[in-house]
Amino acid sequence: MSKMMVKAGNVRIGGGAQISVQSMLNTPAHDIEGSVLQAKRLEEAGCDIIRAAVPDMEAVKLISALKEEVNVPIVADIHFDYKLALECVAAGVDKIRINPGNIGSEDRVKAVADACRNNGIPIRIGVNSGSLEKSILAKYGHPTAEALCDSALYHASLLEKFDFTDIVLSMKSSSVPTTVKAYEVASQRTNYPLHLGVTEAGTEYSGIIKSAAGIGSLLLHGIGDTIRVSLTADPVKEVKAGIELLKSVGLREEGIRFVSCPTCGRTKIDLISLANDIQDKLAGVNKSITVAIMGCAVNGPGEAKEADIGVAGGDGCGLIFAKGEILYKVPEDKIVDALMEEINKL
Ligand code: SF4
Repeated sequence: MSKMMVKAGNVRIGGGAQISVQSMLNTPAHDIEGSVLQAKRLEEAGCDIIRAAVPDMEAVKLISALKEEVNVPIVADIHFDYKLALECVAAGVDKIRINPGNIGSEDRVKAVADACRNNGIPIRIGVNSGSLEKSILAKYGHPTAEALCDSALYHASLLEKFDFTDIVLSMKSSSVPTTVKAYEVASQRTNYPLHLGVTEAGTEYSGIIKSAAGIGSLLLHGIGDTIRVSLTADPVKEVKAGIELLKSVGLREEGIRFVSCPTCGRTKIDLISLANDIQDKLAGVNKSITVAIMGCAVNGPGEAKEADIGVAGGDGCGLIFAKGEILYKVPEDKIVDALMEEINKL
């Protein structure tokens, strides 16, 4: 984790703060009503920071609307036009994502740095393998991890010239090994907080795997301060995947830890449907407990000893157990109700 810390609204990034989960709206920037609705869905799903693209002046209205309607810090994603950054700051945005090397003269960089400094707004510099400076590409030949890191630090140096250091860096590649290497290099070369992500990760299935491999391995090595799982899918799925990823690497304790066995020849109930039903029902439950759905009584309760509550499948029935001890037996069609009743008691 980075030594330096910035604040986006009330969310701290870096300095040992809890790792935050980010996502980005994918509704059209001018569809204020639809964008606000989506932002509310993200907030409900547990998103810590919401980013919105601001492609033109008209879209600045979205920032004001989001600030009024949701309680999660809002990031304006801006390319090239420094005036958009200034307008978003005036509209009360909590963080800006912009690459200072792309906005032109030093005067413009200074104007953005001053406006952000005066309003306590951090800037994320986000470089990726498709947008490297020609000189850096010429030096390395192709978008290597070092090249990505050089580019991020080059953009940061433009802000540092104006004493602006409230910076978060990201350096994403669609290649997992390059992404991981780039952040490893960055963690050696800078103390700025790091926003982790694998870019253009793909659709839900492959995107989650790539992100888990890339973001997960960095987090396990203590690198990273905020994350975004990029998916070609509903952004709510990005948030759910991000939270699950943090839980799986032991960086989030709150919420349900869900354990289920892969099923095998001993399974005599429809465990796959049962596990999916229970997981759906648990989506709204905010308790820090472990729930286990196991296929058989031979291994189930023993394998899931740590579970606060669980079920082990029998022949057309289920054995409800807690901490490895069997409590009672219910018919298969009553398992969901029985488990939910026990979970509500905890
Ligand atoms: Fe098979 Fe039982 Fe293990 Fe599930 S808990 S995989 S049913 S042995």
